[in-house]
Formats: sequence, C-alpha cells, structure tokens
Amino acid sequence: MSHIPHLINGERVAGNGRSAPVFNPSTGDSTAAVGLADRATMQLAIDAAKAAFPAWRNTPPAKRAQIMFRFKQLLEQNENEIAALISAEHGKTMEDAVGELKRGIENVEFACAAPEILKGEYSRNVGPNIDAWSDLQPIGVVAGITPFNFPAMVPLWMYPLAIVCGNCFILKPSERDPSSTLFIAELLNQAGLPKGVLNVVNGDKDAVDALIEAPEVKALSFVGSTPIAEYIYSEGTKRGKRVQALGGAKNHAVLMPDADLDNAVSALMGAAYGSCGERCMAISVAVCVGDQIADALVEKIVPQIQALKIGAGTSCGLDMGPLVTAAARDKVKGYIDAGVAQGAKLVVDGRGLVVPGNENGYFVGGTLFDQVTPEMTIYTDEIFGPVLCIVRVGSLEEAMQLINDHEYGNGTCIFTRDGEAARLFCDEIEVGMVGVNVPLPVPVSYHSFGGWKRSLFGDLHAYGPDGVRFYTRKKAITQRWPARKSHEAAQFAFPSNG
Ligand code: NAD
Repeated sequence: MSHIPHLINGERVAGNGRSAPVFNPSTGDSTAAVGLADRATMQLAIDAAKAAFPAWRNTPPAKRAQIMFRFKQLLEQNENEIAALISAEHGKTMEDAVGELKRGIENVEFACAAPEILKGEYSRNVGPNIDAWSDLQPIGVVAGITPFNFPAMVPLWMYPLAIVCGNCFILKPSERDPSSTLFIAELLNQAGLPKGVLNVVNGDKDAVDALIEAPEVKALSFVGSTPIAEYIYSEGTKRGKRVQALGGAKNHAVLMPDADLDNAVSALMGAAYGSCGERCMAISVAVCVGDQIADALVEKIVPQIQALKIGAGTSCGLDMGPLVTAAARDKVKGYIDAGVAQGAKLVVDGRGLVVPGNENGYFVGGTLFDQVTPEMTIYTDEIFGPVLCIVRVGSLEEAMQLINDHEYGNGTCIFTRDGEAARLFCDEIEVGMVGVNVPLPVPVSYHSFGGWKRSLFGDLHAYGPDGVRFYTRKKAITQRWPARKSHEAAQFAFPSNG
C-alpha cells in the first residue's frame, strides 16, 4: 500500500507519526495511507514558507504569472491522469472529474493576469506637487484548508491567486482524497515555482489547529462544512487573522408553473444527482409552485432517476459514482430512514442499490422524496448525497420565504419564463449565488464565489476580485517632492485643498 507524503520546501516529506487509510469508494478497498502531520511537521512547512516570502514578494508579478502559464499547460497535459486520481479516491465519474479540473484551470487563467490585477491605483496632483497611489501588497504566509468533494478545484480557487499576489502558501487538503491535490501541487513546482512558496501538508484537526495557532500564518481560507467553518473563523479571527470560511448548503430550485419542464427536469437531474449529490451547489430541494407542476415533475423525473447509470466512477459513460466513504453512505441512508419515519413520501428509494462487481462500494441510488415539509431533517440538514426533496407551495412569495428562512444561503435557482418573477427572485432572495434557468450558478473565475448566512463566515468571497482583496493588503502612499530651497511654514490646521 502506498504512502501519501507531504510536500514541504519543494520536497516530498514522509512526516512521522500518524496516518489514515485512503479508500477507493467504488470498491471499498483501502488503497493508500496518508500522513497526518503533527505540529513539528507543520512547523517545517511554516518555516519554509516564511523563508521563501522575502524573495517571492519581490519577484515581479509578470514573472510569477509566467509560472502560472506553464502550470496551466501542465494541468492540461495531465488532464486524464488527474481525473483518474480524483475518481479513484473521491468516486466521482471521470467526466465530472475533468469538469472540476477545467473549472480549477479557469482560476489559474485568472491568476495569469497578475500584473493587471496588482496594478493598484494612481492619482497625480492630489495636492500641490503631491501624488498618491495605492499598492496591493502580499500578506505573507497564508494557508488553505479544503474539503474532499473538489480535491482539484477548491485548492485551485486558493493558491494560484494567493501566490501570484506574492504570498507563500500552505495547503491542508482533505485527508480522504489527497492524491490528486498533491500531484497538482507538484506540477506547479515543475512549472518553476521556487521552493517553499507552496507547501502541502496532509492531516486532520491537529494540522489545522497548528495553522490556526501559528502567529506566522496571517490568513486562512477554508472550504468545508459549516461547523468547522464557524470554528476556524472564530478561532482564526480571535488571533487577529484574516479568515474567509465557506460552509455547507441546502440549495433550493424553484419551479414556477410556467417553467420549461423538460429542460428543468434535465437540469435538476444533473444538479441533484451529479457527483452523487456531494457538491456544495447541488440542488437538494425542488420547490414546486402549485400541485400541477409538482405532479408533472414527479411523473417526468421518476423514470430518469430509475434510469441513472451508476457504477465505479473510474469507468466512462456513467451518471453517478459512489459516495466518498462508508460513513458518508451510512449517513445518507440514515437520512432516508428519517425522512420515511417523519412522514415524507419516498417515491424512489436508493438504499438497496447493489452495483454488480462492486458490491463493497459505497453506493446509494438516486432517491426522491415528495410531500417534504420544513421541519423534517431531510429538509433542514445538508444530506450531501443523491437525495432530492420536493416541497409543494402555493406561490412564489411562499417559495422565497421558505428559502429565506433556511439557515444556509449558498446557491439557488428559479425555472420560469416570467421575467418579472425572475427579477423579483434575484432581487429579494437571501442567497449568495442565484441562477435563472441555470441550476448550478457557480460563478466564473473572474467573478467571486460565496454564499450568505451560515454558508460563509467572513466578508470576502473566494477567488476572482474578492480573492485578490483577500490575499492582499492595501497600502496608500502619498508623496511630495517640494521645490528646492522653498521654505515651508508649519501648518497646524488639518491639511486640505480648501
Ligand atoms: P469537512 O468540514 O469535514 O472538512 C473540511 C476540511 O476541514 C478538511 O480538510 C478536514 O480535514 C478539516 N477538518 C475536519 N474536521 C475538522 C476539525 N474538527 N477541526 C479542524 N479541521 C477539520 O468537510 P468535507 O466533508 O470535507 O466537505 C463537505 C462539506 O464541505 C459540505 O458541507 C459542503 O457543503 C462543504 N463545501 C462547501 C463549499 C462552499 O464553497 N461553500 C464547497 C465545497 C464543499
């Protein structure tokens, strides 16, 4: 069984001490052991990042960008190998793994614009012979802690941008599927990144706590579940760090009576069951405005759920793979049990699914509940599995109230042909990312990603323009070169142009 090491100061480091098994979720086999860093190992990475910072901060942004251009090429050349690594440890289909990688590469492309995004602002003659400008300076050593569900894309939301902004980075990936993350980081080193600028330290809570407590780490980006996001935000900010912590979700799709139902059903199928529902932007609730659209939805979607092609993610041409771990499978099945016990109508039951040849894989089939009500745990909680709940309401206002009352506010969408309804929805919905006839409104890399309410702790969203603000400190410089030999009397009134 292979050992998955850390990447510190440009070298693979075995670390010493604990490790955790990594599984192939399609087979249930343990395929590798990943090192779980102790504090001493994390300190090696912090020291390496700190030592690399002075030279890296003074490296011209255009040179930093050139490394990102080479990185992008290497990512594209290694697309199949990366997708296979993702699928083997996460379980998602190869096509889905390629999709996540491509969205990650878009963030590298954004980072390639480093000289442009770091230009700052300049004003001449803000006063007599006085010029002023503002500079975007790096913060220093910054860290990212990432979830299992996008082992390639979410780290790529963070470190390419942090690094081109002049920071040195420590990444603590998910311990459940660390191989693709490590492989990708090594590609960036191959692209010419100086040693110590990017370090990858595998681990669990101990490694995260070491990052939170280290005074050298000035900022933390986190993506994962809400309880951990809240913990990292409160512990990090308490220590004066800058923190952006993105959490969990419960994303609703509103189906208006005038929706183009065939297309809405196709969109819902992909958004609810793609990646086995393990996406923070997955649609897990369909809110139907009126019984007519609800009944029509059930009629059309049930055969499609029953026809889902489910199997080992590493095979091609499938719709859905397994859940990531046995614990995740059991948790999802537990929610389905609870939904039945709490009185929801189980229309399609995925609990009994067995995939021939992969009997030990962590599979749950596509599941559909109807007649779900807001107090049920299948409605309140993030299930993170292939379970879609239908809630029936009487009006758009009622649908919006339901969404606005939910504790999460990551993504949502509306299916309608009515521009007025769509406009009202976009304007008044208490959710950070909104789609109109778009089921997964994940912003492109030159916008920023983030939810509202308990889906995000912090002020700035991830990547794009907000990412630049998060990974830089603004310095405003006011400069005057007085004329030679001119005498200036002391001024006691506050200086102004008045
Ligand atoms: P998780 O919170 O269990 O783990 C995320 C990271 O935190 C991992 O690196 C993990 O090692 C670390 N961690 C776990 N427990 C910890 C603890 N007690 N103390 C410190 N660190 C700890 O999340 P996950 O299961 O890997 O990912 C799924 C979750 O992530 C879902 O809730 C999903 O909605 C969310 N997610 C959110 C977004 C977003 O952008 N909002 C994107 C992807 C995933």
